[in-house]
Amino acid sequence: MIRTIKINSKDNVAIVTRDVKRGELLDIGTEAREDIPQGHKIALAHLQKGDEVLRYGVVLGTLRKDVEKGDWIGEHDLDLPLSPALSELTWTGGPECDRQKKPGQPPFFMGYDNGEGKFAGTRNILAISTTVQCVKGVVEAALSRIRNELLPKYPNVDGVAALTHSYGCGVAIDAKDAAIPIRCVKNLMYNPNFGNEIMVIALGCEKLTLERLLDNEEINSDNVLVLQDCKGANEMVDSIVDMAERKLAKLNKRKRTPCSLDKLCIGVQCGGSDAFSGITANPSIGYCSDLLTGYGAAVMFSEVTEVRDGVHLLAKRCSNRKAFEDLIREISWYDEYLAKGNVDRSANPTPGNKKGGLSNIVEKAMGSIAKSGTAPIERVLGPGEKNDAHGLIFAATPASDFVCGPTQLASGISLQIFSTGRGTPYGLREIPVIKIASQNTIFSRWPGIFDISAGDIIDKGLSFEDIGKRLFELVLETASGRLCQAERNGFYNDIVIDNPAPIT
Ligand code: CA
Repeated sequence: MIRTIKINSKDNVAIVTRDVKRGELLDIGTEAREDIPQGHKIALAHLQKGDEVLRYGVVLGTLRKDVEKGDWIGEHDLDLPLSPALSELTWTGGPECDRQKKPGQPPFFMGYDNGEGKFAGTRNILAISTTVQCVKGVVEAALSRIRNELLPKYPNVDGVAALTHSYGCGVAIDAKDAAIPIRCVKNLMYNPNFGNEIMVIALGCEKLTLERLLDNEEINSDNVLVLQDCKGANEMVDSIVDMAERKLAKLNKRKRTPCSLDKLCIGVQCGGSDAFSGITANPSIGYCSDLLTGYGAAVMFSEVTEVRDGVHLLAKRCSNRKAFEDLIREISWYDEYLAKGNVDRSANPTPGNKKGGLSNIVEKAMGSIAKSGTAPIERVLGPGEKNDAHGLIFAATPASDFVCGPTQLASGISLQIFSTGRGTPYGLREIPVIKIASQNTIFSRWPGIFDISAGDIIDKGLSFEDIGKRLFELVLETASGRLCQAERNGFYNDIVIDNPAPIT
């Protein structure tokens, strides 16, 4: 019997998990009435011309013809609804969905909660912040000494990360959009994994001055080293190593303690997606996200260009007027940003998307938005803004994997869930990145890369609730110290700062 996948209880179509021949029996209790390609939609009931076709619980379009249960619904069978213009969206008073409160004994994780902030850390890491790219070579030289000579003496510290980046000078620092890279560099320092130990290496003549990053009382020789004040190479490296040792001694006192889930702030993103990402991995992440937010955690989803065509659906999910207005502001900003480059979101499905069964732009966006589950959106953040809210948060970032990661990091996530179908080894040194595969084929072909596969939804008939629950457990274990695959391998990407402002 051939498996189909229905995402939402309201849906009147499902997806076939492999190529289906006419007459083959399906698990929906009927035979296929025609050949249907893998990943395409099959009608679950008799529907009439003009009826709405529902997938992910939303209207994908209206039917151009009558269909019977077991018919294929292809892209040509639908009249497509266009996403409304942002100017036509209005605040409608909040979502119909309720905040999900979970019954029973609340789960916990073993986090670093030393009263430093609203959220607890999942790792205990010394972060060496930098004001400018110019200092990177010196910091890297000091890093190898810190890792080899010092780290073994401080066993409670999990690692040292240099927050080096390409920003800081040769930039129009007063340009309006420079606020984005500046706040990213600044907010990165206060990630819950770094224990509020501030250590900044500056050059001395850069545009991103210490005053732009730190409060006045934080600018002192305990926290800051200016290389232009040093007498040569050896003193530069020695001074960084000395400062690191003082910070390591303090960080070494941090201890894991049981933390309730309102101390956890995580992010989700997808990259290298395939036709199954929106069917298996992303809805599993969404279910996991609903569990996490139901227990009080903060979960951020992002990737503006990938949610753009479902923005009217996100607008309805905003729980308060401010979140709605911030959503419109952030999406408008991105529309204008793309327009300046004479491009648009190009989210109309590609021929490959259509071959994979995605009929239109809403369906494609819903595959990405599925990561956000069903909770109301409590807060909307601009790129790199610090989060202090609980529940589901939309953090506006580029969809680019290696920009989205650091931007969410600046907003304060201490763990990220990353779904991929085609496969990417993405990882960050600063936080665990749990990678979930959309299919078992890539999971098996790339041992040591993925932490979990959603492929059993296709191969073994599990539901995304089943995988979502496993993922939820894995999140708690990983937040409590279990190493993810990227950490075991030491596969780490750079801190790539989102800079939409001019370089001079
Ligand atoms: Ca991405």
